[in-house]
Amino acid sequence: MKITKISVFQVDLPLTEPYWLSGGRLKFECLDATLVKIETDAGITGWGEGTPWGHTYVPAHGPGIRAGIETMSPFVMGLDPRKVLEVERAMDLALPGHLYAKSPIDMACWDIAGQAAGLPIADLMGGGSRTPKPIASSVGAKTMEQTREVMTRYRDRGYVAHSVKIGGDVERDVARILDVESFKKPGEIILYDVNRGWTRQQALRVMKATESQRVMFEQPCETLDDIAAIRPLHSAPVSVDESLVTLQDAARIARDGLAEVFGIKLNRVGGLTKAARMRDIALAHGIDMFVMATGGSVLADCEALHLAATIPDANIHAVWACQDMITADIAPGKGPRNIDGYLHLPESPGLGVHPDEALLGDPVAVYG
Ligand code: MG
Repeated sequence: MKITKISVFQVDLPLTEPYWLSGGRLKFECLDATLVKIETDAGITGWGEGTPWGHTYVPAHGPGIRAGIETMSPFVMGLDPRKVLEVERAMDLALPGHLYAKSPIDMACWDIAGQAAGLPIADLMGGGSRTPKPIASSVGAKTMEQTREVMTRYRDRGYVAHSVKIGGDVERDVARILDVESFKKPGEIILYDVNRGWTRQQALRVMKATESQRVMFEQPCETLDDIAAIRPLHSAPVSVDESLVTLQDAARIARDGLAEVFGIKLNRVGGLTKAARMRDIALAHGIDMFVMATGGSVLADCEALHLAATIPDANIHAVWACQDMITADIAPGKGPRNIDGYLHLPESPGLGVHPDEALLGDPVAVYG
């Protein structure tokens, strides 16, 4: 089987409401999605998606994905998409780094490989759990009253996992954490996501003030060096996501004990092939995981769900449904949807969801 054609589509995915990153320091209203259609000489077509969480969040942006695909296309054309390692090496040779540009091609290849094998991607990767995965909410930086309102709305839809965005003002963060903990219901999973919003001293002040609550923080500071520096000075479990980009990052975090949880974001780390290695490093070191898209449509959510399904149930805390935060739906009625706060692994071969091509407009680029 050979890759014969790569078509690239750009779609705007407006957010249901403007999103303020932790600390209120960044606002955006629309996601720039890149959809990639890979055709083969066997008549099997695969789809991939790359949708960064805006362009101000981490070093990744929509136009960068499309430029990267233009550069990499000649190197992957003619390869067998089922041989995902060969495609990965070709992309790494063509364009060192730029992992976020590679993930949509990797995803489309896994989709093709799954269809060719007659297996959902998770089963092709070695076996997918059918346990429904709790979807984490995203509770933006708000007042205590607004935080309760937003969490209540999510609870009414069945959500048991919440990512509460904090970071910035120490006193306000401590007050919000204590309030949310008093509001927490038994069995709820709550992650306090700082999104790199604290300096080291701010992180330590909040972590010390909330020590008795035994809460978990995600990405408390900007870099792994910051997280390492404060590590011996507090006792809170830490999840790392923005600083978990490469396999080397994963190895360092595991070896040096910098975090107890990995927040694996598929687009950021370069797709399923690379993320599966991070999963294995995590499992080998007693590190639990959240697995999510960086953003995007039901396709991106579905890709993350496949990886999540390959993790033992006890080690995967939650997934995410970015589809619930956007107003556009490029695959109406298809793929894994939020059912009472959970996503269910699709049983169809490959990814399990393709977009309605009529909703994507004309391709912005075609190679092959
Ligand atoms: Mg996060």
